[in-house]
Amino acid sequence: MNRMERKLPDAAGKRIGVLDLQGDVCEHLDHLTRLNVAAGPVKQAKDFEGLAGLILPGGESTCLARLLRAFEIDEIIIRKFRGGMKLWGTCAGAILLAKSLVGEAPHLGLIDIEVERNGFGSQLDSFACMASIPKVSPMPIPLTFIRAPKIVHVGKGVEVLLEMGDFIAAAESADVLVTVFHPELTPSLAFHRYFAAKCGLSTAEGEIVATDWDRTSWMKFARINAGESGPCPLGDVAGAGRSR
Ligand code: GLN
Repeated sequence: MNRMERKLPDAAGKRIGVLDLQGDVCEHLDHLTRLNVAAGPVKQAKDFEGLAGLILPGGESTCLARLLRAFEIDEIIIRKFRGGMKLWGTCAGAILLAKSLVGEAPHLGLIDIEVERNGFGSQLDSFACMASIPKVSPMPIPLTFIRAPKIVHVGKGVEVLLEMGDFIAAAESADVLVTVFHPELTPSLAFHRYFAAKCGLSTAEGEIVATDWDRTSWMKFARINAGESGPCPLGDVAGAGRSR
């Protein structure tokens, strides 16, 4: 069986895919599954079948861009996007989708935004906070920024969803959503529900905060047994939320 179980497509035969080259793939699959959205990893051409939307996850954009080119998946994404597939880029994914990058050549260039990579500094300058994003949720949403980029400019046809001081943290065009933070690393399902609606898919009703979520929930998709990995020599520094 595939490392990550595939759910059956919804009644209209549509699914949301998560680009599975590098980065936090399982975490997105976990969130989509909690909303009862048919979802699966996307690695090769056949995986694009029946996709209403594709999530480009966070990770490392230079690595992701090289893999996209090496496996010629960049061309498929652009073709499917022109055919109506919606896109959501989180963090490195947003970098890949931007039309312009400060000091570097852009990659897919599918949304008219300018992005500054590593806009907050090093990995140690990562942080978490809460923000109100009324279009996405009536409740404040937890935001996790991990060596995040800053959106420094948006062009015509792009709506700002969240502005924080000197940078934009979330924006969207009619067909593309970008967030420089990681909703998949929090218990909030609000952004995944919002993207599913953008893709024309319905989701499970109910709370938009997963009360049984913890930082190891995604492991069921990676077939990792947290109990077998042994104690971390530094203690529970990652705050994995589960005692060992
Ligand atoms: N700093 C990374 C990059 O430039 C993005 C980090 C992330 O996706 N959390 O690709």
